[in-house]
Amino acid sequence: MRVRPNVFQAMMEDLPQAVMVTTADGMVLWCNAAARSLCEKARPDTAPPAEASAPAPRTAFETVAADAHDALRDMIARALGTPETASAHCRCTSAVTGPTGRPRWLDWSAAPVDWEGVRAARLIGVDVTADVDANRDERLLREALDSIPDALVLFDTDDTVLFYNKAYRDFFWYMPPLEDMRGRPFEDVVRRSMAPPRVVADPLAHSDPDAYIAKRRRRLHTPSPEPFELFTAEGRWHLVRERRTPEGRFIGIRSDITDRKRVEERLSELVKELAESNRELEQFAYVASHDLQEPLRMVTSYLQLLQRRYAGKLDDTADEFIRHAVDGGARMQRLIQDLLDYSRIGRGKRPPAPVSMAAVLQQVLRNLSVATADGGATVTVPGPESLPLVLADQGELVRLFQNIIGNALKYRHPERPPVVAVSVTPEADGWCISVADNGIGIEEAHYDRIFMIFQRLHGRESYAGTGIGLAIAKKIVDRHGGRIWVESQAGEGSSFHVVLPAAAAGEDDMPVTMARR
Ligand code: ADP
Repeated sequence: MRVRPNVFQAMMEDLPQAVMVTTADGMVLWCNAAARSLCEKARPDTAPPAEASAPAPRTAFETVAADAHDALRDMIARALGTPETASAHCRCTSAVTGPTGRPRWLDWSAAPVDWEGVRAARLIGVDVTADVDANRDERLLREALDSIPDALVLFDTDDTVLFYNKAYRDFFWYMPPLEDMRGRPFEDVVRRSMAPPRVVADPLAHSDPDAYIAKRRRRLHTPSPEPFELFTAEGRWHLVRERRTPEGRFIGIRSDITDRKRVEERLSELVKELAESNRELEQFAYVASHDLQEPLRMVTSYLQLLQRRYAGKLDDTADEFIRHAVDGGARMQRLIQDLLDYSRIGRGKRPPAPVSMAAVLQQVLRNLSVATADGGATVTVPGPESLPLVLADQGELVRLFQNIIGNALKYRHPERPPVVAVSVTPEADGWCISVADNGIGIEEAHYDRIFMIFQRLHGRESYAGTGIGLAIAKKIVDRHGGRIWVESQAGEGSSFHVVLPAAAAGEDDMPVTMARR
């Protein structure tokens, strides 16, 4: 079968590969459209690459980047160098940029041809930009994976080694380089990783190699096995996270978590020490205040006896001294009683139960009825149907609100009768119960201080008290996992807010108005 030469020429013209016939010094004798599109003189990037009208290169060098001229010249020389030479190759970038804006990579081959009686070279250039880019990307990824501190190992779908990074080899330093292990079965890596033993404590247990490999294989085929921790021969903690990808490949990551573990260990030690010292302190306060009571009772009763028997029998100064001593003794008794009360909070450790705020406030108002009536005070409380159930110890709640409402009555403004209002609002973490008064108010600078034990803002002459009430209130609230704070306008009044956890009661147990919120 004969094919006409012009058919061959047309086919050559349309080939995607660049084809040129050149003289020994690179002068172009013939070239196709793909070769013309590589030429510096070719139309800009926007033009179709095989544009027939693109001007032909005068020399082959016009198709490659300037720094590739020597390589191309050398290739042609090698191709034409000896009669036996079949072909020569080189890879270089093109003179014009590709669609990405970067030069294209071409693999050139050259072979001798007879061109109308002249010994010439035929050059074929294949665009390999995509391969080159892929290799570059892979190199960059490998470099990135080699620079992370976590050890990484990848297995292919057939459980053979795909990749491990530098950190992996730093840990298993006797593991051969990746190039020697790529494609080897998973067992090879596991067996090598076991000798010499690098891991002291491993939940997958090391003693029997076959059993160990079987366990590891099971994990290899589990989509997302539980992470586990290891303790290494160097005394470091490692966290191992593994995952099977949807295509059935496997990723293993081993991270050094020693620093985190040490901080966690130290933290739990500190918490233990703190709890212990707290417990000792509470015990001390309790024992001290309890045991101080008895001798103090003896001192005060004898002082009172002295006062009764000898009042007016000694001189005036002696009478005054005895009065001071009796006073001081009584005050000390009150302080010790308060301290004892404070240290007793939470000692019973009754578990919190649903408590009706309506019942708590009713009890408080009953306990404070005398104080309320005495001062001509008004105390308003929401109706029982609007009061919630909270999770608490009922006795402690009575104590808490008695202290707060008691203060609202006690710290009254000299020019007006006390008006105290209790209100309830829902909060994200429970119920907020607020007690607002129209008393003397508190300067902002003292908002925190008033909750500290024995801290008072007034002398005993103006307002009686020991400064324990709000410290007890705070201890009760803290024990319930709640919050307490004050807002106030000096001279106008104060609002104390207490947030307590809501009782997780069924809706049926809840007052109607609360359940609907
Ligand atoms: P005490 O009432 O025995 O002094 P508390 O611990 O109950 O002790 O209160 C601490 C201080 O906080 C009080 O001395 C008082 O100065 C201030 N305080 C407490 N409640 C109020 C209030 N409702 N209005 C103004 N001041 C208050």
